[in-house]
Amino acid sequence: MTQISERILVQAHLAGQQARQLTPAQEAQLRGEIAAELGRQDAVLVAHYYTDPVIQALAEETGGCVADSLEMARFGRDHPAQTLLVAGVRFMGETAKILSPEKRILMPTLEATCSLDLGCPVDEFSAFCDQHPERTVVVYANTSAAVKARADWVVTSSCAVEIVESLMDNGEKIIWAPDKHLGRYVQRETGADMLLWDGACIVHEEFKSKHLADLKALHPEAAVLVHPESPEAVVELADAVGSTSQLIKAAQTMPNPLFIVATDRGIFYKMQQLCPDKRFIEAPTAGSGATCRSCAHCPWMAMNTLDSTLQSLRTGSNEIFVEPALIPRAIKPLQRMLDFTQQARLSHAGNA
Ligand code: SF4
Repeated sequence: MTQISERILVQAHLAGQQARQLTPAQEAQLRGEIAAELGRQDAVLVAHYYTDPVIQALAEETGGCVADSLEMARFGRDHPAQTLLVAGVRFMGETAKILSPEKRILMPTLEATCSLDLGCPVDEFSAFCDQHPERTVVVYANTSAAVKARADWVVTSSCAVEIVESLMDNGEKIIWAPDKHLGRYVQRETGADMLLWDGACIVHEEFKSKHLADLKALHPEAAVLVHPESPEAVVELADAVGSTSQLIKAAQTMPNPLFIVATDRGIFYKMQQLCPDKRFIEAPTAGSGATCRSCAHCPWMAMNTLDSTLQSLRTGSNEIFVEPALIPRAIKPLQRMLDFTQQARLSHAGNA
């Protein structure tokens, strides 16, 4: 699914990164320069949980945010800064631009993409939708602006089950794209009638149920936390399944002293910060013989570095543009998601 050229690009980037190991003094200097530049340019850093811990810490120190893709979108839209520096992968920058077309959206790199986005080209997806005109089109946030513009709803993993449940209650049948594992999980949770696109995340697909079962047996005191982009056999071994935010919440509320975590290891930064007395270990992957370096870390998220963050701010390069004609169409399904989740929050608060 992932193009060879994309892999070569990522590998070249990662090789360059290995060559540039920062000393603590260099790192502190870069952080200081980025913080000053953010202030000078009325900019705010919005980072995903899967980025390097140093980027997450910098976002927190400078008044930005570290969050899942839903909260990144909401934070960027509501923040008064005129420049959003989005550390994550390309669809996150595009989402920020769609929701805030008047703002300047920069990214540390424009080359950081996502296997789910790559695996769902708009022409093929549109043709698939055209074959099933009676179905409501629900796409995951990990898609291009053009695919979002073809959709009725955008969802993230933190609200997918609730949104699909409510569509099912309205008697709607669904086309789901692009992640087949998350789609299958949502289908199982809701019982909805869903046609699934055949996409997958190259990181989560590497988690192996057999090795996970062995590790769980070795640590009976541990709870297993699994992101639903993982294969079904891995999800079945979970003590808690959920989005990044939901897994962080589970780590805080579950009493276990140890957690085996099946999602990108970038999330350990926030988990450890919120649960300093607990331990977190990576769920096993296939190891070095597998695809995608099989390492529980997204190669595209790893392309966000302090160097590229500063470079982007200084030069104004890596600005995200979205075709203007797409914006009014792409904003509708995104806005539906934001309205739905806002409403759900209000009613939870009301019931509390
Ligand atoms: S971890 Fe997977 S879903 Fe997330 S950006 Fe990377 S490839 Fe895409």
